[in-house]
Amino acid sequence: MMDVAAYAAPAAAAPLEKTTVARRDVGEHDVLVEIEFAGICHSDIHTVRDEWGAQKYPLTPGHEIVGRVLEVGSGVSRHAKGDRVGVGCMVNSCQGCDACREGLEQYCLAGNTGTYGSVDRDGTITQGGYSTHVVVDERFVVRVPDGLDPAAATPLLCAGITLYSPLRHWGVGKDSKVAIIGMGGLGHVGVKIAVAMGADVTVLSHSDKKREDAARFGAQHYVNTTDAEQMKAVAGSFDLIINTVSVNLPMDDYLALLRYDGTIVELGAPSKPLEVAAFSLIVARKALAGSCIGGIAETQEMLDFCAEHGITAEIEMIEASQINEAYERVVDSDVRYRFVIDAKTF
Ligand code: NAP
Ligand code: ZN
Repeated sequence: MMDVAAYAAPAAAAPLEKTTVARRDVGEHDVLVEIEFAGICHSDIHTVRDEWGAQKYPLTPGHEIVGRVLEVGSGVSRHAKGDRVGVGCMVNSCQGCDACREGLEQYCLAGNTGTYGSVDRDGTITQGGYSTHVVVDERFVVRVPDGLDPAAATPLLCAGITLYSPLRHWGVGKDSKVAIIGMGGLGHVGVKIAVAMGADVTVLSHSDKKREDAARFGAQHYVNTTDAEQMKAVAGSFDLIINTVSVNLPMDDYLALLRYDGTIVELGAPSKPLEVAAFSLIVARKALAGSCIGGIAETQEMLDFCAEHGITAEIEMIEASQINEAYERVVDSDVRYRFVIDAKTF
């Protein structure tokens, strides 16, 4: 075991503070990663603030991790010392169930092991990437292609895969009319990926503030969702709507924007249940679905796709001492578009 520098929430809703976390010894199939960058996902905030149910504290969040391999176990074949690698939202799964065999480790029938706040195979609680080092099974470590700026690629490990997976699953391509609700950390990467897939992309944002940025990311259309006229103009027009908003929205207003047979994919995870009128679905065979991150092979595919298309996140680099302030700004939708922590400052 080694103790490494980290930031952790000591209790629910308490500010994060400097501390250490214990990392296990490097096992046969493990990789020791020296972390360079850690992204701040809104899920980190929901979790440490207990919005998703009770957690065990102290808790070190962070599931967008990029760094260099410092050491590998004797049985490791996928990664070598010095490689630039990434770790996302999972660090283990059963590997034997139907979902795992299909490369859908996120839907592991025995439950995947989250990068933080999950019970690990040794019975300890996993601690995330707001830290200088992490030890992870090689199967849950992906390669960061050389062409990608490592800091700006960091948010791809959660935001990137969370958007890429449903865009692929629902077959987005040249003839697709896609809308993305919420252009935050997830949403802005989703816009870039959907554009690269050839879709006609509309951003549904709750102000006018991001109009120019949306165009810069390649979105062809922009709707200020607080303007009833603009919402009416796009009624019945989308094949697929991806909702990345972290609070409850009036779902019926958004289901009305789908074409017949269209689907809304819920990615945002507010703590309160979604409310939907039955007729919003019935009238035109509409579907309300959900999607959780993506599998490990698909995460690698996404990184390679992003390298090929020159896609990274727009980031604001911060020092570890600014994490609490950054959380407030994420909740206020005041970040363009993802905070990334310089791991040298933990
Ligand atoms: P984020 O950066 O805070 O972005 C959320 C966006 O939602 C904001 O930028 C804003 O976009 C919109 N929004 C925020 N408050 C709003 C309000 N009061 N009314 C209307 N719109 C509002 O968060 P994120 O990191 O992208 O994460 C988004 C959600 O996805 C979180 O709930 C997170 O936990 C969840 N998540 C899910 C998965 C999954 O696997 N399903 C993975 C990661 C994260 P505009 O300013 O453009 O309106
Ligand atoms: Zn996340």
